[in-house]
Amino acid sequence: MEVLAVRNMRISLKKGRKSVEFLSGVNLKINTGEIVGIAGESGSGKTITTLSLTKLLPEDVIEVRFDDYRINGVKTEEVQIPYLRGRFISYVFQDPLPSLDPMFTIGYQFKEIYTSLDKEYKEEEVISVLNKVGLKEANRILKSYPHQLSGGMAQRVAIALALVTGCRVLVADEPTTALDASLKKSILDLLDTLRRENTLSIFFISHDLNQIFYLCDYIYIFYAGRILESGPKNVLKDKSLHPYTRALLNCVPRKGDRGFSQIPGRPPDIKNPPSGCKFHPRCEYAKSICQEREPDLIEVKKAHFVRCHLFGNGDSKSRKTQ
Ligand code: SF4
Repeated sequence: MEVLAVRNMRISLKKGRKSVEFLSGVNLKINTGEIVGIAGESGSGKTITTLSLTKLLPEDVIEVRFDDYRINGVKTEEVQIPYLRGRFISYVFQDPLPSLDPMFTIGYQFKEIYTSLDKEYKEEEVISVLNKVGLKEANRILKSYPHQLSGGMAQRVAIALALVTGCRVLVADEPTTALDASLKKSILDLLDTLRRENTLSIFFISHDLNQIFYLCDYIYIFYAGRILESGPKNVLKDKSLHPYTRALLNCVPRKGDRGFSQIPGRPPDIKNPPSGCKFHPRCEYAKSICQEREPDLIEVKKAHFVRCHLFGNGDSKSRKTQ
């Protein structure tokens, strides 16, 4: 069942009376118990997109608009979107320690969450969530300060703080980046368990395609504030079409590789991208139309979307999404 769907999300930077649109045409969807991956290089718009799902950006500088925003299939008015924060959508960020207040115990920080949601504090509920995320010594943890926790424990506490809200959608933004290798897999497995046991829907943001393929059911590839390709995991892993996705896949280290491949050039400034296809300055297949016109995002096969002049445009079997 579809839990959340947004259509044609646009994000603009306000500059005096003008505004500069730097993210547009973003359609996202997530079903109950699904893990949806959002991948792309730094600065591609992954994080800003998910923060915008609850308008968690300074409104005096950033404007977020949607053509359509649905929760459990019901249209949501724009004024209600900030209210979803914490109640329906919660966030876990890459470095857990800065997201915990060093001045207060973990127990106090759980109480603050209940207060912010106008809910009565229930310690047994908190202990149950801490146990669920694999922290068995819940009483000791509630009395601890953040600096007394290891990195892995702090990230589990951050996940518990998000879950105690009763959210149905969790945004996990590079949640393993600050952890050492042995802890990374345990956090990925925890997220997988939480979606199975709690039918939690998770947006998992990462630049690491190995993690994305390990965990996610459906994947969006972002570049310069656009979705360039999206599809089920196995399609993107074995039958991706977009030159950018294929270039990203070529950068994934394989057994026996002696070095890393890199995509030539650098990602553009998201606020000042090139004309036409945003990837054209780095694309080995670029032709003149690529500089002149931005391709549409086209459904080339069921649930597989590609934004590239090489595929779909003009093909009557293909369906535009916008
Ligand atoms: Fe390359 Fe053109 Fe496709 Fe862009 S539209 S990815 S430049 S071939």
